[in-house]
Amino acid sequence: MSHINTALIHQGRESATKSLSVNPPLVRASTTVFSDLSAFKASYSGKTFETARYGRTGTSTTFDFQSAMAAISHTESCIATSCGLSACTAVISAFASSKKKIILQRNIYGPVTTFAENELKKRGVHIEYFESTQELERIITPNTTLIFIEIPTSLTMKLLDVSAVANIASKHSIPLACDATWGTPLFFDAHQLGINITIHAVTKYINGHSDVMLGAITGTYAALEKVRIFSERHGNFAAPDSCWLALRGLRTLSVRLARHQENSLFVANFLQNQLQVKDVFFPALPTSPYYDLWRKQFSGAAGPFTIELVSCSEVQFENFINSLELFSLGTSWGGFESLVMPAIAHDLRGKYVLPNDNRLVRLHIGLEDKLDLCDDLANALNMLTDEKDI
Ligand SMILES: *Cc1c(COP(=O)(O)O)cnc(C)c1O
Repeated sequence: MSHINTALIHQGRESATKSLSVNPPLVRASTTVFSDLSAFKASYSGKTFETARYGRTGTSTTFDFQSAMAAISHTESCIATSCGLSACTAVISAFASSKKKIILQRNIYGPVTTFAENELKKRGVHIEYFESTQELERIITPNTTLIFIEIPTSLTMKLLDVSAVANIASKHSIPLACDATWGTPLFFDAHQLGINITIHAVTKYINGHSDVMLGAITGTYAALEKVRIFSERHGNFAAPDSCWLALRGLRTLSVRLARHQENSLFVANFLQNQLQVKDVFFPALPTSPYYDLWRKQFSGAAGPFTIELVSCSEVQFENFINSLELFSLGTSWGGFESLVMPAIAHDLRGKYVLPNDNRLVRLHIGLEDKLDLCDDLANALNMLTDEKDI
């Protein structure tokens, strides 16, 4: 099975063959029972998170999901976790200890930075940030244990040259981890680009139906060793129900992403030509400073991107957001439906932080008709030039 579209359909159905159904049965369990003592003992010689031992290590449903994720990611192994954030924090924690340094890319998913700043620093872990490969070279020290990146960065949509970062990491023998949620394994072949540990918020596109929280960490058995031990000790595991739903989402990932891509490019192009839109931050647009890097590293473009509106009053901005009908106001993305959200950093969301000249909005382009989405946006954009509200 050399093509990913075939793997999306046929992988992760191991337990289905035994139940004579197309789909694997949903197996919920706290307790695993063994036929005899030797089977019990054998379960402890197997790999955690791939061996039925106790509900926490997973059931056949979990293992089916994990094997499908590993296969479509062109690697050996996958650990399913409770959500995308717990996948990120498990990877970082597994490499963190007092007086060691973890290097994070700047502007990555906000809650990951919040975790590092609040939970790791107080335990004596050194945290440093970088934006360019030159900056990365400068801050690497012999006590650096992990480099963590996200591609593209949440909200700001910046791309790094991943191969260049991977070369630097491997020259210093430091593992490289990457949150690759946006591209999914379908559009972004992370391990082939030299990333050792890849993280996906399955919550987003892979499940794709806005009804599951789930994370996945992929890599070789060796690369995931520390993460596996950390997750086992912390009881970080995924519910079989979530894995079952995510497997169902996986089957249609490629057709959904094709439509997300078509719609996103269409809507982004439309927005670029609107008077009320100052800038569109989307690496798949030829005008993006990251366009060449995107073409080199991705085989497609997903649905969320950020736009900058022209300067407007608070009331006009509110009217713009509130008058959208097809775009619901919500913070997630990756589902079938379009979403809008003010692109405010996570730690600032409850506060008043909308300076007049910086109106950033994150859109997730869903599977609706692209012309209807443009009409909806055009109507709402009119609110920004509505004189009576200035
Ligand atoms: C949503 C998201 C996460 C967190 O995933 P949850 O399942 O919501 O915890 C992590 N990284 C990125 C890039 C995300 O967009």
